[in-house]
Amino acid sequence: MKAFAHIAAVISLPIFIGAAGCDAQLHVDPFPVAGHKCGLRSDQARSFLPPVKSFPIRVVFDRGFDRDDRAKLNVAIDRWNAFGEKSLGVKFFEAEAPEAAIDMSAMPFATHYCKASVKREKGLVLVKVTSERRWRGGEDKEKAGAVTIRCTTGGDGAAPEMSVAFNVSQGREDALLAEALHELGHVLGLGHSCANEEKRVSKNYRACSDLGDEDPYRIAIMYPELEVHGTYGRVSPDREILHANDMERVYCLYSRLVSPK
Ligand SMILES: [Zn+2]
Repeated sequence: MKAFAHIAAVISLPIFIGAAGCDAQLHVDPFPVAGHKCGLRSDQARSFLPPVKSFPIRVVFDRGFDRDDRAKLNVAIDRWNAFGEKSLGVKFFEAEAPEAAIDMSAMPFATHYCKASVKREKGLVLVKVTSERRWRGGEDKEKAGAVTIRCTTGGDGAAPEMSVAFNVSQGREDALLAEALHELGHVLGLGHSCANEEKRVSKNYRACSDLGDEDPYRIAIMYPELEVHGTYGRVSPDREILHANDMERVYCLYSRLVSPK
C-alpha cells in the first residue's frame, strides 16, 4: 500500500523523575476573550505545526482505557474545549461515548499508524500502550510518556486523522491528565513552547535552555518535558491546567482562521 504522504509531525513527551517541590498556590490564567489581539512574540513564531482544518475533532478511545483513564482524558478534552468555546467560539473536540471505544491492542500506533495498511478511524484515536516492548516497537523513544502523530490535518470536507499514544507501561497513569493536555496541544497545532533541539533554535524559536523557572514558556503545558515526582508519577497540579502561553498560541493560530463569535 502507498505510504500516506502527509505525516505532519511526530512529537513525544519525555518524562523526567524529579524531587517533589513545595506546594505553590495554583495560579489559573484567564482565557483570552474574543477581540483580543494576538500577543505572540517573535521568539515563538516558529513554534507551530499546521493548523487543523475542521472542527470538532472526533475523539475515539482505545478499549484499553478504563473508566478512570477516560475520566482524565475527558478532563483534558473539556479544558481545551472550554477555552476554545469561550475564546474562539470553536468546540475543538467531540469525545465518543465509551461504547464506541475500539480495540487498538493489535493496531500499529505512533510512527506506524499513518502508514499502516489498515483502515484508520476518522478523527483522533487515543491509544493506551501497557507493554514497554510494544512501546519501543512503535516509537524508538523509550523515555517518552506519550506521542502524538498527525497523519493529516483535514480540509476539503475531510476529517483530520491523528493519533495520540500513551505509554503507561511503568505505572505512570497519574501523569495521564498532564500528558493528555500537552498532546492535545500538539493535535491542535502547537509545537513546543521553546526549542529543545539545538538545530531548531533561531531568533524565531527560543531555546528551552535559556528559560528561567518562572518564564511563561517554561510554565506552559507545551514545555517539552514533564517532570514527575516519585515512583508513581505524581505531577504537580499546575501541569494539569492550560497556561496563558498555551492559550495565547492557540488563539493566535486560529483567530486568523475563524471568526470569533
Ligand atoms: Zn510534546
